Amino acid sequence: MNRISHWIDGKVVEGSSGRSGVVFDPATGAQQSAVDLASVAEVDKAVAVAKAAFPAWRSTNLSRRAEVMFHLRELIDANRKEIASLLSKEHGKVLGDALGEVARGLENIEFACGVPNLLKGGYSEQASGGVDVYSIKQPLGVVAGITPFNFPAMVPMWMFANALACGNTFVLKPSEKDPSTSMLLAELLKQAGLPDGTFNIVNGDKVAVDRLLAHPDVQAISFVGSTPIARYIYETGTKNGKRVQALGGAKNHMLVLPDADLDMAADAAVSAAYGSAGERCMAISVVLASDAIADALVAKIKDRIPAIKVGPASEDGNEMGPLITGEHRDKVRGYVQGAAGEGAELVVDGTNDVPANGFFLKPSLIDHAKPGMRCYDDEIFGPVLTITRVKGYDDGLALINANQFGNGTAIFTRDGGAARQFEFEVQVGMVGINVPIPVPVSYYSFGGWKASLFGDTHMYGPEGINFYTRTKVVTSRWPDPRTSKIDLGFPQNR
Ligand code: NAD
Repeated sequence: MNRISHWIDGKVVEGSSGRSGVVFDPATGAQQSAVDLASVAEVDKAVAVAKAAFPAWRSTNLSRRAEVMFHLRELIDANRKEIASLLSKEHGKVLGDALGEVARGLENIEFACGVPNLLKGGYSEQASGGVDVYSIKQPLGVVAGITPFNFPAMVPMWMFANALACGNTFVLKPSEKDPSTSMLLAELLKQAGLPDGTFNIVNGDKVAVDRLLAHPDVQAISFVGSTPIARYIYETGTKNGKRVQALGGAKNHMLVLPDADLDMAADAAVSAAYGSAGERCMAISVVLASDAIADALVAKIKDRIPAIKVGPASEDGNEMGPLITGEHRDKVRGYVQGAAGEGAELVVDGTNDVPANGFFLKPSLIDHAKPGMRCYDDEIFGPVLTITRVKGYDDGLALINANQFGNGTAIFTRDGGAARQFEFEVQVGMVGINVPIPVPVSYYSFGGWKASLFGDTHMYGPEGINFYTRTKVVTSRWPDPRTSKIDLGFPQNR
């Protein structure tokens, strides 16, 4: 049985807790690996190593830190296929999708290559007589990242690229469901010239997470995962005095106005709902169809579904792989099978005729979903698209703004004025205009509103740089000794 261990101080370290987790091959349903689950002592070891590595790494000059990021960029680029295959083997997403994930992660390494520019502070000469004031951005120390199963390469890169470039040392706790990609990234970081101990991985579960949340030497926590855990991470981490950004779940609505190009809207809805088997936090899970075009739009979406090729990532031509575990597949199936009983209409039932082995479902389409139904209210996180019929713009906007989540949303229209009004009024962090999955490029920042994000800072991009640094303001005077005198008053500008 393949065993996945920890990465501490620049090498693989076998776990000694005696506990391990199961990593499935989601395409067959069989176990493919066992992952060591860290004990408190093992987390403490990783944090101690990262703490010891911090003074040298924060003192490393900016050009050298950027050079490591440039090397890493080249290594990831050269190994795209290997990284994508590894993640698709454990996650189940098809290779093209996995390659897209690697590309979107790589953008963050490219952004971090610009760290000398990103860490520039401000400078004000002569703020007072002979006094200059300037700000500097300094790293925090040891920072930790806790990541979800659905983007095992990209989400760690969202975090560690900027964290390391800013001079922090890092402890990553990947999802225990698909941990191998992180181990490969650790190897590449070493090859890129990152000093041992600067980046560490503890594989594990709640035991490891809780220790990171309580450890006095961990300064900050970045988390991406489901909303209940994100809330817990934020509350516990901040109570323990840490800086925390915790991104949670989503229910992303796509509002289709009567003037939209319906073929384009149907293509977008199908791609964004069923890509990666719906296991994306930016997946479209609700289409708000204006009454005037709803029947036509539902028909177009329904027509497209049978052509989607569902099967193992290892077979060429498949477009949608399995779900992550049997347990999760059963939960998603429950939403589909329960929809009719809640008063919705099951237009396409993707729970039938699925491969006997593996954690597969086919795409499902549910019409006439409404608030108060579980299939509308909950984040399903599977290949299930629900349609809610709305009178038009105002009705659709009200539903989006009433939702507990505010991660992503999209409007499909040819009316620039309506799109402008939508971006102005909608209570959501990431908005697409005729773009169904508006994941910001790496030089903006990623984050939702409401129950999709706990904390003040979005992830990666400029806000990522702010999250991983503390600002210090220096007020300095190199006085002309001739002007020195005693003054007991509060400093004022003179
Ligand atoms: P999850 O919340 O179950 O797990 C995320 C991480 O938290 C994992 O590393 C896991 O080991 C850890 N964890 C799980 N239970 C814990 C507990 N009780 N105490 C402490 N730690 C715990 O999420 P997941 O199933 O891996 O990922 C899917 C979820 O992540 C979805 O809700 C999805 O919307 C969300 N997600 C959000 C974003 C975003 O940017 N907002 C991005 C990707 C995924």
